Amino acid sequence: MQLPIAIVAVFVVLWGALWGSFLNVVVYRLPARLSVVHPRSRCPKCGTQLTWWQNIPVLSWVLLGGRCHRCKTWISVRYPLVEAAMAVLSLAVAWPWLPGLVSGDLPLWQGIVGVLAEQVFVFVLLAIALIDADTFLVPDVLSLPLPLLGLGLAIALGPVRGVTWQQGAAGALAGGGGLLAVQWLYAVLTHREGLGTGDVKLMAGIGAFLGLQALPAVLLVAALQGLLFVGGWALAGRGKLATDRGLASIRHLAMPFGPFLALGALQWLLLHRIAGKMLAHWL
Ligand SMILES: [Zn+2]
Repeated sequence: MQLPIAIVAVFVVLWGALWGSFLNVVVYRLPARLSVVHPRSRCPKCGTQLTWWQNIPVLSWVLLGGRCHRCKTWISVRYPLVEAAMAVLSLAVAWPWLPGLVSGDLPLWQGIVGVLAEQVFVFVLLAIALIDADTFLVPDVLSLPLPLLGLGLAIALGPVRGVTWQQGAAGALAGGGGLLAVQWLYAVLTHREGLGTGDVKLMAGIGAFLGLQALPAVLLVAALQGLLFVGGWALAGRGKLATDRGLASIRHLAMPFGPFLALGALQWLLLHRIAGKMLAHWL
């Protein structure tokens, strides 16, 4: 039996939106040390439990006009945006797998494992980016499994994904070790903590998942975009960000690096094939 690719794509988008809904729960509850499974989602203001129709990704927020049904408190637009982003990104990571999956050229288990693992990777990257941006912390429960997941995937699907287990292992060592060295050097030179150990674990995970070959581009993109963001932020006169949180002196603008590492990894995952083709074409 062959399913039309469009039907599979719609399913992947809906599936991704559900992941997005769970992502909101994780980002909200994990830093507060609350369970991510119990209780059901509720309004943060009045505590009213959401019924099933108030809990549909994106749609409910639109239907409710962005307010709690009961107490009319505004609900942040970040919730539907995160759900929509996860839906779109799910389709984007599944896209290269779909033709092989639908035509049967790819063994079913390989396609399903590949798509699911890359969705989990995207989920964890977004969760780390949002939590790090909110709290300046990368929770171990998110960053520690990442190298294991990446290595497992490289062992299971190495040639199919283009990241062998050797490249994954080298990436994990170089990513984690490299950032650890930078952290140590920074601490020795400035007597301050620059990078968190969360960033080290995150980078080991990114290396395991994307392979050694991805690390230079991921780091470069993360650093450039981080600098652009800090520059833009400072220009906008909001350089007090760090001091408001009591984390650093005024001359040291503290920005979490995790979100930029996560975004760099995401960009590599989605764009490196296209970018490679374009480069090959120009050269
Ligand atoms: Zn309410």
